[in-house]
Amino acid sequence: MPHQPTVLISGASIAGPALAYWLGRYGWGCTIVERAPELRRGGQNIDIRGAAREVLRRAGLEETVRAANTGEVGTRFLSKDGAIVAEFPVRASETGGATAELEILRGDLAEILVEASGEQTEYIYGDQITAVDDLDDRVEVTFEHGDRREFDLVIAADGMRSSTRELVFGDEASIRPLGMEMTYLTVARTESDTPWWSWYNEPGGLAVTLRPDRYGTTRAVLSSVIYDTRQADARGDRRSTAEQKAWLHKQFANVGWQAQRILDALDDASDMYFETIGQVKAQTWSRGRVVLAGDAAWCASPVSGMGTSLSLVGAYVLAGELAAHVHHEDAFAGYERIMRPYVGQAQQLPPGVPQIANPRTRAGLAALHVALRAASAPLIGRLGAKFFTPPADKIDLPDYSHLG
Ligand SMILES: Cc1cc2nc3c(=O)[nH]c(=O)nc-3n(C[C@H](O)[C@H](O)[C@H](O)COP(=O)(O)OP(=O)(O)OC[C@H]3O[C@@H](n4cnc5c(N)ncnc54)[C@H](O)[C@@H]3O)c2cc1C
Repeated sequence: MPHQPTVLISGASIAGPALAYWLGRYGWGCTIVERAPELRRGGQNIDIRGAAREVLRRAGLEETVRAANTGEVGTRFLSKDGAIVAEFPVRASETGGATAELEILRGDLAEILVEASGEQTEYIYGDQITAVDDLDDRVEVTFEHGDRREFDLVIAADGMRSSTRELVFGDEASIRPLGMEMTYLTVARTESDTPWWSWYNEPGGLAVTLRPDRYGTTRAVLSSVIYDTRQADARGDRRSTAEQKAWLHKQFANVGWQAQRILDALDDASDMYFETIGQVKAQTWSRGRVVLAGDAAWCASPVSGMGTSLSLVGAYVLAGELAAHVHHEDAFAGYERIMRPYVGQAQQLPPGVPQIANPRTRAGLAALHVALRAASAPLIGRLGAKFFTPPADKIDLPDYSHLG
């Protein structure tokens, strides 16, 4: 009987289960290890754009994802009293605008992918890789809980601060901080909540946003620009959850619009997720039999609007290249050749982002509102849409349909 190739994937969010889906289809045996005790369902709306949508279509999952749409109708910028400054309705395009036509909660998409990866994928929760020993013809992995197992390959899909990447690549890959912290949480829905992505800026680089979900609750984000680089060193994601809550109470104490409501909900929030955003820069995405995928390889940050799309496309390409080549080195080379230009474009944020959308002064905020009003006017609306539209289509997706 021919040897069934096996892979250990670290991280069960978007990239990990998407890889398991495609690799399973090509006959690989997949194991996913996730550090959290169960699938993490937190986070808010994420966009699926352009080529990623085509990948979902090829996986036969487009309709399942569409059925889980959040129903968000567009993006609105608001003043302190909730008056509309500018609005950008969702466009019937596969790539355009701040709200994409295919929007889904991150947790819902993760769940769909886990389900699609099927019974042939082994999931291990509450554990993680502590050592990786590349033995040339296989990899020996040690888990935190003591197990040792061998696989043909290891894929690190464990996010921007991937500890698997750190184990194997050391400090070869770096994180470029973007100077902003974001905290995501779910709050009770109130009558004032609309199906719009509602966005309020306060001078000082602070923002409060609310988005609809399909569970009768509302997804909130508190974000703040980090001006002081010494503060950026004291990274927010090194704080404990309790410390982060205390920090937000202090930072957003006198902020307008719905900030107080979010602060009131903070102490009981069970799904709070926070991060200091940045971009991963890695010279190479593989070493020996270990390869990086998703945010662990190239995190473009939430402000790129491309994190999930890149993960879905990257998983499709990496799995396809592995199925198409006998030697993993050739597959990894193909993966980089196809994905590098796409990732490079997604990492190129519009000038001044994210600070430009989170002004420090009242004058800066007034200027932003003037610009948003102009961009939302029908005549130059295309310009506005362009500003919000990431390069989601700029890849020629290979066709692997003959492989499985
Ligand atoms: C809980 C959560 C909420 C999020 N919310 C949003 C959001 O609202 N908006 C947005 O734009 N992006 C959000 N993101 C990030 C978004 O999912 C990614 O940018 C993008 O989808 C790429 O996904 P990924 O699978 O590569 O990485 P990630 O989504 O970051 O997933 C990495 C996974 O690896 C796990 N992990 C981490 N370290 C280890 C380890 N050592 N061993 C095993 N597993 C490990 C994590 O628990 C996580 O499940 C969120 C991520 C998470 C984990």
